[in-house]
Amino acid sequence: MKGKVTLVGAGPGDPGLLTVKGLQALRRAEVVVYDRLVSPAVLELIPDSARRIDVGKEASRHPVPQDRINQILLEEAQAGCNVVRLKGGDPFVFGRGGEELQVLAQAGAAFEEVPGVTSAIAAAAYGGIPVTHRGFASSLHMITGHAREGEPLRIDFEALVRTGGTLVFLMGVTAMPAIVSGLLEAGMDGKTPAAMVESGTLPGQRRCDAVLETLPQRAAEMGIRSPALIIVGGVCALAPELCWFERLPLRGKRILVTRPKDRAGTLSGKLRELGADVVEFPCIRTEAISPCPAMADALGRLPAYEWLGFTSAAGVEAFWTCLRGMGKDARALGGVKLAAIGPATGKALEVHGLTADLIPEAYNAACMGEALANAAEGKILLLRAEEGSPALTDALKTAGIAFDDIPVYRTICDNPRSAELREELEAGQFDYVTFTSASTVRGFVSAVGADADFGRFTGLCIGEQTAGEAKKHGIAVRVAKKAAIDALVELAESN
Ligand code: SAH
Repeated sequence: MKGKVTLVGAGPGDPGLLTVKGLQALRRAEVVVYDRLVSPAVLELIPDSARRIDVGKEASRHPVPQDRINQILLEEAQAGCNVVRLKGGDPFVFGRGGEELQVLAQAGAAFEEVPGVTSAIAAAAYGGIPVTHRGFASSLHMITGHAREGEPLRIDFEALVRTGGTLVFLMGVTAMPAIVSGLLEAGMDGKTPAAMVESGTLPGQRRCDAVLETLPQRAAEMGIRSPALIIVGGVCALAPELCWFERLPLRGKRILVTRPKDRAGTLSGKLRELGADVVEFPCIRTEAISPCPAMADALGRLPAYEWLGFTSAAGVEAFWTCLRGMGKDARALGGVKLAAIGPATGKALEVHGLTADLIPEAYNAACMGEALANAAEGKILLLRAEEGSPALTDALKTAGIAFDDIPVYRTICDNPRSAELREELEAGQFDYVTFTSASTVRGFVSAVGADADFGRFTGLCIGEQTAGEAKKHGIAVRVAKKAAIDALVELAESN
């Protein structure tokens, strides 16, 4: 396939503000070249299979020069790669996106551009400032506040003041006092509402409310730093009324989500929607045991079983892959009944057009064992993790039900960011850590180190078994009323 560069606007930080088209491009990417302003939450959406090139910083901490970036893009495209060039906000709003595309155009390389949500509008919006508003502003102006080193700002302040519109300055934190005096000298009223929004749309967003003449002092008091917008105009007065983002229930809460990467999406998404600063840390990943002769053998004799039991989506996937690998499909199941430990496992079955005949009332191994013991007359096939909970098989043994318990996948903990995480946890930088199974607790503890200080955060646990495992390591816990993601989210909200 011929190489191509897709220039994608990553939005201002909140991953929800990446466009659908941008996300699609990212999912197909083989190489992703990104800047400093692209938020970690957006970087998490880069597929594991893609090569990442960070041009925002180098070993020497100097950004990669623009010429070199242009060259990297061209080389990767010419090597036949599907390249995504990811830029903060919109690539063409003070992003040098046009320059990068010109280089590609002149070399005859293929390219596309996916516009992004610019921080100039979105960071203001998350700060409660609509950039235009009837009666306040009939035009909007985006201005760069960046001056070349040692040179004065080249801004026509008189012209800006005459427009009477909303003024949004980007890259203006350093030059802010000079911008304010420029506007005042050009005749703007010192009482004009003005604001700064720092790290807009991100969990750490801060807003500084002022009027033009007090802005430098207010911003200095708050220590406002880049990236930040300077917004000048009547619309700034609306912020206290409209600042919805700052009022979200989980604002200011930093939460570590420990679920396996492919399944962290819903939990993290829900917590983020409520304003939490979510850090995803997949402590464990699952790996199908492959080849798995024991499973293949059992699947060859499926009619011998009355029930087939699954305790996780990973088990369902391992089963399905094995079945397909044997050249069979869902018809092989015939009259075999299906049991799933909970709704997520049930959903994993549904993806393959299968409906669970049994989901226990409480979503845990002991309950599933009891429910199966009550329902079963014939033999049961369990396709589970290598270290599956004995609570399930104990219940079956007690009831005298015949079963085969076959390990079809294993959990592995090998996250390379563990040392970093330990430091942050011990420094009290997390309010909560979520645990969705006892094995995630074990994975987390072994990733961080069993001798770490687990006393500085609260574990949000999906059930009693999970909580029991967490308590063993001295973790303070809250236990969800139901073993479901929404109940876990509620725990974070309760004070
Ligand atoms: N192409 C980007 C802008 C790049 S210039 C866009 O469309 O958003 C970099 C400037 O953008 C920063 O100096 C800052 O003024 C602004 N900026 C970028 N992200 C921001 C954010 N999350 N909050 C506030 N300002 C931001």
